[in-house]
Amino acid sequence: MHQYEELGIKLDQLINSDSNGRGVAKKLYPYAFEKAGEPLVYKAARELVENSDKGSPVLIMTGFRTPPLYVQETDGPLGAASISRAFSICLNAKPIILTEQDERSLRIVRAAVEGAGLKISPLEDLLRGDQDLSASVVGFTHSEEYAEEDAKRLIDEVNPRAVIAVKKAGRNFKGVYHSMSGLNVSKYHAKVEYIVDEARKKGILTIGTGDGGNEVGMGAIEDAVRKHVPYGDVCRCPCRGGIASSSKVDVLITSSISNWGGYALSGMISKILEKPNGIHDPEAEELMFSLVAKEGAVDGIKGKAGKSADGLGVEAHKSVLMLIREMLF
Ligand SMILES: [Zn+2]
Repeated sequence: MHQYEELGIKLDQLINSDSNGRGVAKKLYPYAFEKAGEPLVYKAARELVENSDKGSPVLIMTGFRTPPLYVQETDGPLGAASISRAFSICLNAKPIILTEQDERSLRIVRAAVEGAGLKISPLEDLLRGDQDLSASVVGFTHSEEYAEEDAKRLIDEVNPRAVIAVKKAGRNFKGVYHSMSGLNVSKYHAKVEYIVDEARKKGILTIGTGDGGNEVGMGAIEDAVRKHVPYGDVCRCPCRGGIASSSKVDVLITSSISNWGGYALSGMISKILEKPNGIHDPEAEELMFSLVAKEGAVDGIKGKAGKSADGLGVEAHKSVLMLIREMLF
């Protein structure tokens, strides 16, 4: 077995360990592994590296706003920012992060990017290629009416080598977006399936990481989500279609906490390209949490703002990051 494959298994096990006690990732991981046929983080990182050239654009999407506050969660933006950093440092790539269109979501994602050590750059400047160690953060429409056209325009304009979803709210087969608690949250979320579909149509690599079954990418193991996740098969909203996302990607990474899927992916990309500085360090992790908390980002499980994600405090996230770094370098 290739050495990176062994590392991939260790990373998969670490990020799917259910450390926050939700009990979902551990059940979903075997299905995702079977589907992929090899370690998830390794497969995603290898395909991303194979599909990218120096300076190429990559589209990264994140965004989940959960009840009762409907403010962007801390889980998602940090993982997306970490991947952006890895692409920027390892490949001098142009990361474009796409999120919800409301001002606060945009501020939270920008804060995470800055915490990860990148500058925020306007999209035109970034695509022109005169900005090093930068990323752009853009919003995408919540309206079904404009989403298809906007998605085509965006893919044409950016021409990304890959589309990566990090805890991006994904819809079920009836077109409804749900919270983990089984409620309809469609009006708070970007209709990014049009982007993913357009990318897949054009043969652009698509990757997704999620932790609950209701995110973009989980369509790959929809039956398992219906079977193992609370409200997976039947939701609490009138659609009754369940929270299981039907959004499919080429490679799905399940994870106890989605940010960790992002960190593991950054680490593996950095490893393959021999750039240890690609993955962020615990100081950057602390800074990211401080900056997103200052903007009001919410822990999706605790339901309030603070330096925690999915029920675990910042020190726990720094520890997992340290483990990933120690395993790889
Ligand atoms: Zn529903």
